[in-house]
Amino acid sequence: MLKFRLAFVLLVVSIITALVMFTNHVSVGLFMGTIILLWIVIIFLGSMSMGWQFFLTAKTKHPKSKKAFFAITFDDGPNPEFTPQILDILEKHNAKATFFLIGKEADKYSGLVKRIIRCGHEIGNHSYSHSPYIGGFSAKKWLAEIEKTNSVLKQYAYNMVYFRPPFGITTPHLAKAIQHTNLKVIGWNKRSFDTFFKSESRILKRITKDLKQGDIILLHDKQPNCLPVLERLLQIAKQKQLQPVTISQLINEN
Ligand SMILES: [Zn+2]
Repeated sequence: MLKFRLAFVLLVVSIITALVMFTNHVSVGLFMGTIILLWIVIIFLGSMSMGWQFFLTAKTKHPKSKKAFFAITFDDGPNPEFTPQILDILEKHNAKATFFLIGKEADKYSGLVKRIIRCGHEIGNHSYSHSPYIGGFSAKKWLAEIEKTNSVLKQYAYNMVYFRPPFGITTPHLAKAIQHTNLKVIGWNKRSFDTFFKSESRILKRITKDLKQGDIILLHDKQPNCLPVLERLLQIAKQKQLQPVTISQLINEN
């Protein structure tokens, strides 16, 4: 089904390009070069966008949500400086969230992992190394990354259900690795770009504009701006009578 989606997009692009180029009498060589370039661009963009669902199925929102639920997710923790403050803010607002942890960081900060679990938040797998080269990993290496982080959490009797790929990258090799696990892949439909933008108001605007039930928000608990942004986000959610819940609660609406 997913391969069919990619093949369909490539076929449509090829037909449109052929029609445009042949009506302009371009050479076969230029036509083939253009097609190949377009295919490379589409496959690259598809691997960077989980919402396109080219290589695997990823949940990026829950539009069928009947309850006034939405989910706040934090990637790249646990962080010894910011995760405890994030947990304090969530507790103050009686909010639940999902933390997609990097395995090697979870290994280092076991006290924080225990606190996240004790506070009733959810934990997801965000690879073990979060390597900048992970997009080029083989299926075997992807699987090793996933299983290593699962085993870190098993120390706390925590059974992992969800996976979020670092940088939101999906590849055919990741898709193959995921087939050997029971994990569901979770994306987002509201990306804060909080690791990119410095301005808190800009980040907040990106995630609260049209905030609605069923949304999945991406934040990172590894930098100072996540604290005021979360505080304001929770205030705005309260005004809109939206309840922040874990991914499991959002999807299963328990
Ligand atoms: Zn990440």
